Amino acid sequence: MSEEALKISVVIPIFNEENTLQELYDRMTATLETIAEKYEVIAVDDGSTDNSIEILKGFRKKDQRWRVLILSRNFGQSPALYAGFSEARGEYVFMLDADLQVFPEDIPLLYEKLEAGYDMVGGWRVNRHDNVFRKLMSRMLNHYTGHATGFPLHDHGCSLKGFRRQLVKHMAAFSHRCRYLPVDAAMLGGKVAEVQVRHTKRQYGSSRYSVLKLFRTGFDMITTVTILPLQTISVLGILSLIVGSLLGLHGLLWGLFQGDFSQMQLFLAAIIFFGGIQLCALGIACEYVGRIYIESQRKPLFIIQEEVE
Ligand code: UDP
Ligand code: MG
Repeated sequence: MSEEALKISVVIPIFNEENTLQELYDRMTATLETIAEKYEVIAVDDGSTDNSIEILKGFRKKDQRWRVLILSRNFGQSPALYAGFSEARGEYVFMLDADLQVFPEDIPLLYEKLEAGYDMVGGWRVNRHDNVFRKLMSRMLNHYTGHATGFPLHDHGCSLKGFRRQLVKHMAAFSHRCRYLPVDAAMLGGKVAEVQVRHTKRQYGSSRYSVLKLFRTGFDMITTVTILPLQTISVLGILSLIVGSLLGLHGLLWGLFQGDFSQMQLFLAAIIFFGGIQLCALGIACEYVGRIYIESQRKPLFIIQEEVE
């Protein structure tokens, strides 16, 4: 298959999805055949322990448009996606979950936007069928990511997205370990669109994310994007210094007028004040730690999109 002619790559991370794979195959084939003559589907098995790998091998055998990458163990959804991105050869690269919560039939909506000149298109699950806790957490992360990236999308976390290949190639080449897809994509810039897509309940099994894993992922996202949690230590220190100083000043004035310096307030002010000094010192150390962390991510300083001939 020549690289130039390949219009579409679809990357699908798969972790124990044996029940939906056949339907996924049928629906993907029916949809993709309507928009492109040549396409590839890159199924990335992320350490499945059920029958998923066998089923995927079956697809590959009968349909060479399907490529199957098998990871050596369960790495997580994002690493699985990036593994697929590093192999994608299509002009446009889409990502999609295997559990059919988002609809393969909505890929053409995203495709239209890419054809219209956008560099990245995100799906927006207007009618989301997840529990209240998930929706609440997503809302907070959307808000946060919108601020951090400067892209105020409604639904950063939607698993149905489309990119120009150039964009995902850069993303796959980033050398930092903490992958947070919306932020990586935002770093590359470009024209971004959002389209409303459908969403339904998971048909088989439950989400591969436990509450604990969700918290871990959320915390990962926040700490990947900024060193704000470290910087709050300095803010707390400065607040402590201000409160301690005011309390101490008040205690001293009281002492001057009353002739009594042996009050509890002065003692308390001293504790808060010196606590503040310690927090500020820690905050300064954390500022350096934060900078080392940022440097260690080795994010590119800039990305040249093209050179005009
Ligand atoms: N997935 C994966 N590795 C994991 C967890 C999930 O490849 O460790 C895949 C999973 O098979 C599915 C997609 O990522 O195709 C989204 O997973 P899930 O439906 O559990 O997430 P949710 O819809 O609850 O966000
Ligand atoms: Mg799902």
